[in-house]
Amino acid sequence: MCGIVGFVGMKEASPILVEGLSKLEYRGYDSAGVAILENGEINVRKYKGRLKNLEDNLYQNPLGGSIGIGHTRWATHGEPSDVNSHPHTNENATISVVHNGIIENYIKLKEWLGKKGYDFYSETDTEVIPNLIDYYYKGDLFEAVVKATSKMEGSYAIGVICKNEPDKIVAVRKDSPLIVGIGEGEYFIASDIPAVINHTREVYLLEDKEFVILKRDGIEIKTEDGEEVN
Ligand code: GLU
Repeated sequence: MCGIVGFVGMKEASPILVEGLSKLEYRGYDSAGVAILENGEINVRKYKGRLKNLEDNLYQNPLGGSIGIGHTRWATHGEPSDVNSHPHTNENATISVVHNGIIENYIKLKEWLGKKGYDFYSETDTEVIPNLIDYYYKGDLFEAVVKATSKMEGSYAIGVICKNEPDKIVAVRKDSPLIVGIGEGEYFIASDIPAVINHTREVYLLEDKEFVILKRDGIEIKTEDGEEVN
């Protein structure tokens, strides 16, 4: 278990992400991190240890930006370390992912991606995800996430941001919890309701393999075939 949060809105994302993660501390964790989109770039900060380490770093060197994802990790593959902490990013740092769960076939995927020229820097199963999305990315993040997840076996709740589509978060779950918080002109994802309760009481519990696209002007929930879920 661990925690995921994501925020899309007009306010500064980093304090909202850290506050949301603090509400998920009861789930247990060994490291914490955020990835935030600002001026078309993805900035990542992630540290082994208490959430306080991340919070202190962000206090000293604040990150602007009003779209971002955050994570508290409970290591399953690879020791607790800064490098193994989430978010994980593809080599060009265009795609950033937080993941809760276990990718059972990550070794096979790592070998397959390795043959296509992808390098890996962490010991985690998670690092295959941003690289798989990168492999399938042809200008539509939702489609790339659908294709990537169709190759992934195991359990996951993921939140994804992409430098080329700096107005959104794409998220999906399978056998790991993920909720969507619906505010006024601001939207959230989280592993559990306490992470969003200070911002909204309107919450949608995603079903397995429901994809959500969060933007400042609203959310769309779709199946893997692209059909809208009401
Ligand atoms: N399996 C992933 C890792 O070890 C995610 C663990 C989690 O759910 O926090 O990094």
